[in-house]
Amino acid sequence: MLNKKSIKDLDVNGKKVLVRVDFNVPMSKTEAGVITDDARIVAALPTIQYLIDNNAKIILMSHLGRPKGEPKKEFSLETVAKRLSKLLGKDVKFLNSDIVVDENVRKDVNELNNRDVALLQNTRYRKEETKNGEEFAKELASLGDVYVNDAFGTSHRAHASNVGVSSLLPSAVGFLVEKELDIMGKALENPARPFVAILGGAKVSDKIGVIENLLNKVDSIIIGGGMAFTFLKAEGKEVGKSLLEEDKISLAKDLMNKATEKGVKLFLPKDVVIAKEMTNEAKSEIVSVDNFPADYAGFDIGSKTIEEFDEEIKKAKTVVWNGPMGVFEIEQFSKGTFAVAKALADSDAVTIIGGGDSASAIEKAGYKDKVTHVSTGGGASLEFLEGKELPGVAAISDK
Ligand code: AMP
Repeated sequence: MLNKKSIKDLDVNGKKVLVRVDFNVPMSKTEAGVITDDARIVAALPTIQYLIDNNAKIILMSHLGRPKGEPKKEFSLETVAKRLSKLLGKDVKFLNSDIVVDENVRKDVNELNNRDVALLQNTRYRKEETKNGEEFAKELASLGDVYVNDAFGTSHRAHASNVGVSSLLPSAVGFLVEKELDIMGKALENPARPFVAILGGAKVSDKIGVIENLLNKVDSIIIGGGMAFTFLKAEGKEVGKSLLEEDKISLAKDLMNKATEKGVKLFLPKDVVIAKEMTNEAKSEIVSVDNFPADYAGFDIGSKTIEEFDEEIKKAKTVVWNGPMGVFEIEQFSKGTFAVAKALADSDAVTIIGGGDSASAIEKAGYKDKVTHVSTGGGASLEFLEGKELPGVAAISDK
């Protein structure tokens, strides 16, 4: 159980409540100011609505993209304020300032009525944000009476708008952070078994901590994506021109040995989709991993592998998935990733998607409502699965 104060432990009636949300939504690369997926805004609504219903004055803050400490129009939160306003059915005051907090912003905040909602400009317009600068944290904290962290997606970072502010105001976690930690915490601590972890993505090096931690908890680990080739190489297989981390081969061997020692079943691809180029036009075919041609690269798991992974997922009572099975952005290499998405959607198990690319695959496939939980934080959920303490949560007052 989380021993941190919850939003329900705070007296918010008539108070200025400063809330860190994660409105770092994906924006269209071709049309300026167009939000392509508002899931993160939707995920923050329960906390915002609770504060409205309980007569608070609500001051929201978030970052968007990487403006690198300077005001940049393309990273303005103005369109986010408009979308939030639509979703809430209520005016949201956008407090636009290139330095996030200035005299006008202070004045506007002091004039808020109970139940009003305001949104500050992108906190990363200030370079102190990502350095957890004390002065900026003080400026932000001066706007509120109490602080709520509901930005799960940034809770693995110690920034001014989360960790900095937490030490300056009475603090609590919001409903989204609570839900994320509760669902993932239960899965890790007391999972219904069999517990299966599915890991993919480009690099083994990004997932070492996760694999090490999960080896103590799961019954099976399924490995796909680019990272599988380092494991296949460790088994003595040829992998042609596939992604390979030479310096991680011996570590992959160690991890496989550990899995055997702990009685954890470890599944690697039996067949893969190969091509000479990573394009949709390149000629592709499926080959066995025992028969890998030298001048090709593997870009997806093959059909036999899909079947085998599917069988294992069918047996599971808890599934955690992080990372695509192939280059799912390219249609001809996307089948493995979408097959895993479907297997999770069809399963009766507790199914948890750890944000990032797997979350967009589930969304794209239209299965978002068919899984138990899609995390709003890729990096944060990965660190949680590694068993690390999240600084944004650790900084919140204890119960
Ligand atoms: P990550 O950020 O580590 O989760 O990796 C996600 C990226 O890995 C996606 O952009 C995929 O296109 C890429 N990826 C997955 N499988 C492969 C592969 N076999 N070869 C190259 N890239 C891959």
